[in-house]
Amino acid sequence: MTPMKSNTDADKSPREPDLADTVARCSADTSMMDRLGRIYESADRAVARTGTVCLGGGACCRFDLFAHRLYLAPAELALLVSQPPPESARAGPGRCPYQIGPRCAAYARRPLGCRIFFCRGEKHHFERLYERYHREIRLLHESCCIPYSYGELTDCLMQLFPNE
Ligand code: SF4
Repeated sequence: MTPMKSNTDADKSPREPDLADTVARCSADTSMMDRLGRIYESADRAVARTGTVCLGGGACCRFDLFAHRLYLAPAELALLVSQPPPESARAGPGRCPYQIGPRCAAYARRPLGCRIFFCRGEKHHFERLYERYHREIRLLHESCCIPYSYGELTDCLMQLFPNE
């Protein structure tokens, strides 16, 4: 017979940290946000050294058409939503609400995946760069004692801005 869980057992099971709480903790930690900015600057410099430029006009931000998804960590989400997506373009599956026509309305705050994804060039090189800087972002959460997670952008935005 399968043992049934009592309410007391359920109370003892570890709770998943709430994404909105975690993002709020990241936003309130100005040192964490500054350090994330420096990680992004370093990643941007590493990408610039490759000489690769994007000629795609934002095509990869249309996830459903491009058949890929963008994942990010809570600190990245906190920086991105420091200015919420435009009211007229809240997230839905398959599209980034920060894309306005061909341009990114959150360019300076865009996540690591947006900075290091290129549909042309040395894919392996960019994958290695992504792993390196993503590891720094994960370690940043650990050093700030804030739970790390890795969520899909539109799913995270729908959790943060429900029913909008
Ligand atoms: S944040 Fe900007 S660059 Fe990244 S997917 Fe959205 S529109 Fe594109």
